[in-house]
Amino acid sequence: MRKRTMALVAVAAVALISGIAVKSWQAEIGSALFERAVMDRVGRDSSANLPDGLHVALCGTGSPLPSPDRAGPCNVVIAGKRIFIVDIGEGGSRNISMMGLPLSKVEALFLTHFHSDHIDGLGPLLMGRWTSGSATSPLPIYGETGVEKVVAGFKAAYEIDDGHRIAHHGPSIVPPSGAGGVAMPFSLPAGSDRAVIYDQGGLRVTAIQVDHGPVKPALGYRFDYKGRSIVFSGDTKKSASLIAASKGADLLVHEALQPKLVNMMSAGFEQKGIKNMAQITKDILNYHASPEEAAESAQEAGVKHLVLSHIVPPLPSKFFNPAFVGDAPARYQGPLTVGEDGMLFSLPAGSGEIKQSKLK
Ligand SMILES: [Zn+2]
Ligand SMILES: [Zn+2]
Repeated sequence: MRKRTMALVAVAAVALISGIAVKSWQAEIGSALFERAVMDRVGRDSSANLPDGLHVALCGTGSPLPSPDRAGPCNVVIAGKRIFIVDIGEGGSRNISMMGLPLSKVEALFLTHFHSDHIDGLGPLLMGRWTSGSATSPLPIYGETGVEKVVAGFKAAYEIDDGHRIAHHGPSIVPPSGAGGVAMPFSLPAGSDRAVIYDQGGLRVTAIQVDHGPVKPALGYRFDYKGRSIVFSGDTKKSASLIAASKGADLLVHEALQPKLVNMMSAGFEQKGIKNMAQITKDILNYHASPEEAAESAQEAGVKHLVLSHIVPPLPSKFFNPAFVGDAPARYQGPLTVGEDGMLFSLPAGSGEIKQSKLK
């Protein structure tokens, strides 16, 4: 008996010692790897080596429905060396940082509309831009009338924390004048469904009225730079004004909701007696475009590449892409990509090329 106990104690001691040894080995390797990763990643700028031209990085291809792989609607536009954002859904600014795009370089934000999923990442974006870059002026935020209210609301919500940061780090690190955003409201001229709302340094941004009724205002945006062009649909049903404004564009980033799959969700909620979600999943059908409709719009506008984003419902993996796109490939002759967070599309100036890669 005594012998057996002794043996067990010996085994336990060996196990304990080797456990400690493994842990200390793991700690050493972990620290060394971490130090290396810090040197690789801190201060990096993945936009630095991009060729002159127009680029879009997808910082959020999801929707309000939760998905582990997709942040809320968010797009980074790089025109030459300048960085802009179109919509900032939840998780968007984390993705921007993980893609190695410095928040400190963001020059302006363009909002398509004020549905919560398109603005709920605004707080982290403003905080990150201000603190990481010691910004001295607030971020210009373009949107139709109403944007003032959104910007003022975030300002009020973050005012206490802004004070904490200034008191802790000092005004030279976080200049009080650079906190938050400044609303740049505009409205489309009466009787017109589009207008150039930004024209600086060779970059022209056109706001396009789209059809997301009953939600008004609702816009898409077209970016033109050195002969290359990208259109963002914002949230919309199939929209004639969007098609007209997208004529001949290089890239169309279009929202998409697959009714066949969403109907399955409604039926599921119905069966489980969850009436409000059954109703909401039915209601959303009438103000979004299906992948098939997005494909028709791309075909009619003659764009060179279609990227689907604002993916509804969430897809557990790429395996589900064919079920999601449905008949879309038959309705559009060009390449069609189901957008994923981290994708980068590069449109070098002076060429017709569209290069696709990943930043995350
Ligand atoms: Zn939306
Ligand atoms: Zn919306």
